[in-house]
Amino acid sequence: MRRLTTLASLGFDDFFASQLERLGNPQLVPARVVAEGQSSFHLAGCRAPLGDLTGKLLGSLTKAERPVVGDWVAVVDGTDRASIQHVLERRTALLRRAAGTLAEPQVVAVNVDVFFVVTAVNRDFNERRLERYVAAVWNSGAEPVIVLNKVDLEAELEPMLEAIDRVALGVPVVRSSAATGEGVEALREYIAPGKTVGFIGSSGVGKSSLTNRLLGREVQAVGGLRDDERGRHTTTARQLVVLPGGGVLIDTPGMRELGLLDDAGGIETSFADVAAFAERCRFRDCAHESEPGCAVLAAVESGELPAERLASYRKLLAEIAAAERKRDPILAGRSKARWKEIHRAQRARAKIDPKLKR
Ligand code: GDP
Ligand code: ZN
Repeated sequence: MRRLTTLASLGFDDFFASQLERLGNPQLVPARVVAEGQSSFHLAGCRAPLGDLTGKLLGSLTKAERPVVGDWVAVVDGTDRASIQHVLERRTALLRRAAGTLAEPQVVAVNVDVFFVVTAVNRDFNERRLERYVAAVWNSGAEPVIVLNKVDLEAELEPMLEAIDRVALGVPVVRSSAATGEGVEALREYIAPGKTVGFIGSSGVGKSSLTNRLLGREVQAVGGLRDDERGRHTTTARQLVVLPGGGVLIDTPGMRELGLLDDAGGIETSFADVAAFAERCRFRDCAHESEPGCAVLAAVESGELPAERLASYRKLLAEIAAAERKRDPILAGRSKARWKEIHRAQRARAKIDPKLKR
């Protein structure tokens, strides 16, 4: 009974329980990855504080499938070490394009329910970046909450709040100050036992300071961050904690860029304004570039839709398309093949119709 409570407070629910059940092996118990060690994983929810991947998993998982903090795994438990047999399907996954690559996916955080997208009221404030972060969060399957931090600083908030309304339609906004504590209670409204939250945003916007505010002084240890297998003391920082009052917080790595890789409907959700106009385009597959009867272009023309919104929409879609072409060799091959076909058809036509030859 006690273990069940612990599992539920760590975020274990029917989504994961049914997966475990489907595995049909009564030996398996669930555990959540709370930190990544040198060669093993720190676990919570099972008896053993550490777990290792089975050789079979080690050999079969792609880099993006490897367990990360926040993952639920099915293990054969032990006193000291558990054997990780399966990585359960992720409910949400925030992926980004690994820095310096065109299409290499990097897992930022998994199984997060709510992302606090933090921005500060100073020079950091950037509409376009917020737009990108919100689209990425929607794509991950999590829900975004925008946190406008450092409101204690002298700043005119109105223009920023208006900008947020333009780029993050219907996304809740919390004004906060990690310095004074303002808004911290409002953040807690989105946190509850069993729910997982995380912060994302540029470095310096106050993510750590807000985290400390949420943690208060009673940091609750989860999982055993003990000595590793060689008896050395691991210095791995705790990356997943249960907050006082319940709720799980995952510490996401800082990142300079958030390159998009794919679209799982996040673009449509983020650009609901563009999508609404697009429904009135004459052609269903309108690209909103120069087509006749394009309602999106008409909306930009009339000032109903900011031109920057359409520009961002195109930019993010193009970025995703480029990554997808790069990543999927079949797709890339297909588009090349298609061009070959067009060129071949063009040449064939030229043979038949001498007029075209010139
Ligand atoms: P992170 O990189 O996003 O984790 O940002 P930090 O939490 O490390 O904060 C960066 C700097 O901003 C630190 O010097 C903080 O003291 C300061 N800071 C964070 N939140 C606030 C705030 O609400 N108001 C003010 N004035 N400074 C803040
Ligand atoms: Zn159109």
